[in-house]
Amino acid sequence: MVRRVSIFGATGSIGQNTLDLIARAPDEYSVVALTGARNIDQLAADAIRFGAEIAVTCHDELLGDLRTALAGTGIEAAAGAEALVEAADRPADWIMSAIVGAAGLAPGFRALRQGTTLALANKESLVTAGPLLMAEAARHGARILPVDSEHSAVFQALVGEDMAAVERIVITASGGAFRDWPLEDLPNATLAEASCHPNWAMGQRITIDSASMFNKSLELIETREYFGIDPARIEVLVHPESLIHALVGFRDGALMAHVGPPDMRHAIGYALHWPDRRHLPVERLDLAAIGQLTFRAPDEARWPALRLAREVMQTGGLAGAVFNAAKERALDAFIAGEIGFTRMAEVVEATLNGLSGELAASGGGFDLEAVADMDHLARERAGAEARLRAA
Ligand code: NAD
Ligand code: MG
Repeated sequence: MVRRVSIFGATGSIGQNTLDLIARAPDEYSVVALTGARNIDQLAADAIRFGAEIAVTCHDELLGDLRTALAGTGIEAAAGAEALVEAADRPADWIMSAIVGAAGLAPGFRALRQGTTLALANKESLVTAGPLLMAEAARHGARILPVDSEHSAVFQALVGEDMAAVERIVITASGGAFRDWPLEDLPNATLAEASCHPNWAMGQRITIDSASMFNKSLELIETREYFGIDPARIEVLVHPESLIHALVGFRDGALMAHVGPPDMRHAIGYALHWPDRRHLPVERLDLAAIGQLTFRAPDEARWPALRLAREVMQTGGLAGAVFNAAKERALDAFIAGEIGFTRMAEVVEATLNGLSGELAASGGGFDLEAVADMDHLARERAGAEARLRAA
């Protein structure tokens, strides 16, 4: 049976790795929607190569360019935030959510209405609106499969297990670009230095978030939302080789580790073929040649983002939306050269503190509109905090 697939964020790192897997078995898939942002040439080329029904850019002003690039192909072109959400209504059996940032929430959420499978790389959806997403999936009988190496690893270690027997979940972190830097050098880290990951090839934003550990902070919250585990039982372990992605500790003392090469095509492929395991074009590890794996405890002085994530989980409600939006705004400011590297965590912490009254007033229950409102408020606040700290 040919499977209909849509990829949100097709032009990005996860999107391109997903297309790489699909290209290896073209007869098995029919591509419905592909989406991107500014990279119109890539988006159009992939839409043509895979015979997509529709290509969508999130930028209204690029519709003309996209139309021109697709002229004569019969492939529909669309643009804008609303068009992205509408593309999520197109019938598909498997939908990849791989837009970066909070912008991925609306189309991913909408896709759940189809009651099929959402492969979720966009961790920001779970951080900002985890309970809403899970409830929406349950309401429509949709399945959410993790596409983050750590969460896919945990998911795989839990096959056939009872969550009641789980004592702890350990997610590993490479430590990113600055794991061995002297602390006093961190404030002067440049954009180029922060954009180099020691082990993984990923989009620029998540690569910088790995250096600051904001990525791991989002993943702590993501772990709580996926697996419903008490935050006190989630641990972060620094593992510079990035070969063990996560470990699940059971009440009999066993630790089940997931070991594999740092290649996102494993987690993507697992979600694509689940519940089967199919051949995937990833390196087979030679552990004897690798020789040793090393581990260290995470240092909260180096990575204050980890502490902030724990505070966010404690606060609950819309704190995740504030945390993520403030992080995105602080990251924008760092990328634009407006603030230094270590200022990002300061901006996020100040934003969380500054909005603590609004967070308390918002109470426990919330909806997507409240998430969007809080996201907006947090970005404004974080922008002001960034200006106070401008280099
Ligand atoms: P990327 O920057 O390489 O690609 C992002 C994609 O989103 C692109 O297609 C881009 O066109 C699109 N996009 C950007 N801004 C948009 C907007 N405002 N509206 C709509 N579309 C927009 O990012 P990536 O590294 O592929 O990461 C994608 C998601 O997957 C992120 O949530 C990230 O945290 C997660 N993830 C990535 C990796 C990885 O290895 N790259 C691993 C785990 C999780
Ligand atoms: Mg990860």
